[in-house]
Amino acid sequence: MSERFDAVVIGAGQAGPALCARLDREGLKTALIERRRLGGTCVNDGCIPTKTLVGSARAIHMARRGAEYGFAAGEIRVDMAAVKQRKDGVVRQSQEGLAAWIGGLGLSPLGFLIAVNLLFLALGCFIDATTMLLVLVPVLLPSVAALGIDPVYFGVLIVFNITIGLVTPPYGLLLFVLAALTKIPLGEIIRECWGLIASMIAALALLVAFPGLVLWLPRVLGYLK
Ligand SMILES: Cc1cc2nc3c(=O)[nH]c(=O)nc-3n(C[C@H](O)[C@H](O)[C@H](O)COP(=O)(O)OP(=O)(O)OC[C@H]3O[C@@H](n4cnc5c(N)ncnc54)[C@H](O)[C@@H]3O)c2cc1C
Repeated sequence: MSERFDAVVIGAGQAGPALCARLDREGLKTALIERRRLGGTCVNDGCIPTKTLVGSARAIHMARRGAEYGFAAGEIRVDMAAVKQRKDGVVRQSQEGLAAWIGGLGLSPLGFLIAVNLLFLALGCFIDATTMLLVLVPVLLPSVAALGIDPVYFGVLIVFNITIGLVTPPYGLLLFVLAALTKIPLGEIIRECWGLIASMIAALALLVAFPGLVLWLPRVLGYLK
């Protein structure tokens, strides 16, 4: 059985899916061909795995400097198998997120924003803020433009998501800082945080549903049309 397409994009790396989103928006039936793995170099071998390993190295480095920051973390031993397992998990999540995104091409701007928020909320539990900003945002920006979403609005949503990621277990950076500063066990802090996390997610849902909450002030001040 043969199928006709208006356009064929070769390679599902950084460039391919974003181009597909643009072509889809133009109403062109597009085929995406990938010979290896979804995500290309960035997701599978480049940006994501390397920055995840750097994230582990940074956490270990900071823990070893605990005395300088006023806490004792005990003897720090590196479990390379666990470091690699974490890296593989993050790569897998990124591939799944990308697969879900490609599968949902043709989404409305609201559907796209909901998908992006779910991806960031899930990754925020495992990846640090800098990695998400440097790696994921450039991948998503072409689709943001193609869907006609205001980049200022998108930026605010991303910052909000990253803020939630800082307090979501198991790797929320602020949870560790709080535990070190207050000497309260991590588990106790996490138990107390759920209410805060739920209210932040509710606020995020309001921002997604009502973009005017974000864009009203920049518009009034003349920064946006
Ligand atoms: C170690 C490392 C770290 C990096 N860190 C960063 C970083 O932190 N931030 C950043 O912005 N960039 C980083 N980069 C660069 C980034 O990975 C690349 O710029 C980006 O992946 C390029 O995207 P692309 O879509 O052009 O190509 P690719 O991601 O390479 O995708 C091309 C895809 O096309 C497929 N393909 C090729 N030929 C065919 C064919 N004939 N048929 C079917 N499929 C085909 C390939 O399998 C591949 O999946 C890093 C790169 C490396 C190597």
